[in-house]
Amino acid sequence: MTTKIPFDVQRVRADFPILQRTVHGKPLVYLDTAASAQRPLAVIEATDRFYREHNANVHRGVHTLSQEATDLYEGGRRRLAAHINAASEREVILTRGTTESVNLVAQSFLRPKLHPGDEILVTHMEHHSNIVPWQMLCEQTGAVLKVAPINQRGELELDALEAMLSERVQLLGVVHISNALGTINPVAEVCRLARRFDIPVLVDGAQAMPHTHVDVQALGCDFYCLSGHKMYGPTGIGALWAREATLEEMPPWQGGGEMIERVTFEKSTWNRLPAKFEAGTPNIAGGVGLGAAVEYLEGLGTDAIEAHENAVLTYATEKLAAIEGLRIIGTAAKKAGVISFTLGEIHPHDLGTIVDHYGVALRTGHHCTMPVMQFFNVPATARASFGLYNTVEEVDVLVDALERTRAMFQA
Ligand code: PLP
Repeated sequence: MTTKIPFDVQRVRADFPILQRTVHGKPLVYLDTAASAQRPLAVIEATDRFYREHNANVHRGVHTLSQEATDLYEGGRRRLAAHINAASEREVILTRGTTESVNLVAQSFLRPKLHPGDEILVTHMEHHSNIVPWQMLCEQTGAVLKVAPINQRGELELDALEAMLSERVQLLGVVHISNALGTINPVAEVCRLARRFDIPVLVDGAQAMPHTHVDVQALGCDFYCLSGHKMYGPTGIGALWAREATLEEMPPWQGGGEMIERVTFEKSTWNRLPAKFEAGTPNIAGGVGLGAAVEYLEGLGTDAIEAHENAVLTYATEKLAAIEGLRIIGTAAKKAGVISFTLGEIHPHDLGTIVDHYGVALRTGHHCTMPVMQFFNVPATARASFGLYNTVEEVDVLVDALERTRAMFQA
């Protein structure tokens, strides 16, 4: 276990070289962590060191570099498995990210089980990654996609969700923390409800992993999907967690090298877990970097990170709400560091472009959650998302940039 240091945001910021840069001559104020987090030196150096000193293909080599590369890559998996409290590293399939993990479950776990008229239940606040793979599956099998409603605060309507559970539902997909609204969903409670009907639950944990401590066993879900780049690690790497027994029952998803035990032209047999689901040369440096990201998060302490981000969120919510004409979309009682908003009649894209000139990086658009935009009857929002390196002073810069933009449009 790494020793925990007290959370000192200025010291933490020094770990992120990119935060030193300027944009349009102003200090960068990076408020787009929900889209992709910045990387600490520990991650940058781990991947750099891998390429400089250990680079080789993994698993099959007897030579030293290949063994070192394998140890480092598998070390990343082990670190992640321990971090999320997986029973073993065989339960952690390394994928390209959350999107690929959901697709894997759709095609390998659910597709063979589905019959016309079966139901797949998702919530109205899902990212497209947790909608479209199920829609494609419905088209392939004749199953039906059902949607559990949300309320005007952007919270899941638990009673309505419960009423939609039945023997027909073959899987329930729910986002842990909404990237568009910031809502933290009561995932353990959702899993408890679903268990009454033996409905497997897939949790999209893309936004939860960087913000809070995730214990997959305590949550009681069946599948947990995550992305490295949302949790201060590299892009192109992520994971799917599922229990070993579940993964053993699932057929391979993609065929190729790594995932086989033996190949003849007549028949092939499959490798053990987790390799059975990892066809082809993996993102080796990505796995190494992901391990370094987990180590970094553990070094700071997830409780300390959560407390810091919550403090910034509370401050920012108060300050933004006081801006004339600003409407916050997503006011759930339990929220993580995301504020989606509109400002008067100003199009979010214009807003994003103007505040960029003050050095402020906001995300604008539908945030891959078009149904959320439809629910709140807006074409798009601007979104400020806060990571472990953001400060209240940066919130002040954002507020000032927004006030100036508002004044500009009023003039
Ligand atoms: N789910 C949520 C809640 C997200 O925020 C994102 C990314 O924005 C995804 C899924 C997709 O993640 P990735 O693009 O890393 O597969």
